[in-house]
Amino acid sequence: MPIATKKNEWPLIGNTHLTQFLDASLKNDQVGGSYIFLGPDNLGKTTLAHFFAQCLLCEKAGNRLSPYPCGECRSCQQFQNQKQSRASGDDEKQMVHGDFHLLKRAKDKKFISVVEVRELIKILSMSSFLGKYKVGIIKHADKLNLEAANALLKTMEEPNLNVVIILVVTDIESLPKTIVSRSQLLQFRPVPNGIIYDYLIDFHGASRSQAKDLSRLSLGRPALAIKLLETPEFYGQFKAQAKMFISFFSQNINERLQAIGSLIDKKNSSQEAAIKTRRTIEVWEGVVRDSLLLNYNLDNLVQHEFAAAEITQIVNQKSTHGLIRAAKLLEQAKKYLRDNVSPRLVLENIVVSL
Ligand SMILES: [Zn+2]
Repeated sequence: MPIATKKNEWPLIGNTHLTQFLDASLKNDQVGGSYIFLGPDNLGKTTLAHFFAQCLLCEKAGNRLSPYPCGECRSCQQFQNQKQSRASGDDEKQMVHGDFHLLKRAKDKKFISVVEVRELIKILSMSSFLGKYKVGIIKHADKLNLEAANALLKTMEEPNLNVVIILVVTDIESLPKTIVSRSQLLQFRPVPNGIIYDYLIDFHGASRSQAKDLSRLSLGRPALAIKLLETPEFYGQFKAQAKMFISFFSQNINERLQAIGSLIDKKNSSQEAAIKTRRTIEVWEGVVRDSLLLNYNLDNLVQHEFAAAEITQIVNQKSTHGLIRAAKLLEQAKKYLRDNVSPRLVLENIVVSL
């Protein structure tokens, strides 16, 4: 989700320590050969990676004191066109740029293969069209299979001064330590609610009540807040998932099983179903977290304020121990998903054990 900010600013909300670092590395001409952009989804990692690539590849870079891209050269135009197609939801359309290549996990695949990584390495090893950098972004780099990671590591061991590789990662444990130790690690942290609140009002025309609701609901993830604001259908789904979980506490097992039947579409590939299930469980974890907060009278920290009354009923019904057990159950469910247990089984196990 592209992020609109003022001209000549990094397109990132919060995490200014990271943009200051990138800013300095451009100004001082100390660009590294590989970077890891690490952090939870929806913090703006991919948007920032694209912008950093645009800075490196701008035809006018180096002629000016400012590290920001000019926005007008051919290279910048290509980045801007691509940003627009991402904004309109056309995430699949790949940019054709001689010095830039994006590699990401295919929708129906669990891993990025060694063939795909070799192809990327081959493209990056060719000389630059503009005589400057070649930049590769690997999205979901925690999904490189072992062979692919080793191929990448080999390239990192023989660095080419003009090649910059950016790995976008949510789970650092899945990357070989040898790759991590050769890269500059940029850790993205959740953004304070107040910053998201102001941003939604100043740049997206949100009302105060919307900004309050969404800054809480997004738990420090600006891109999620924007998506919730701009896509009413997505906002509706998000709320419905939370409400479904709340309803489980007043339903029998048959009713619960029936409810989860609607979560996975038969048309979804197993990979899509796993991702959708993980996201649903993350919403449910938010509800459990809220119930624990309400249990300790920390009402002002509650994420799902719209459902605070219903969540209070869960608190009245369950012991603290029971709530902690529910949190553990969801944590375990995510682990099962990572271990390739079928999403349907994982969901069934939750509703039966709750
Ligand atoms: Zn430019």
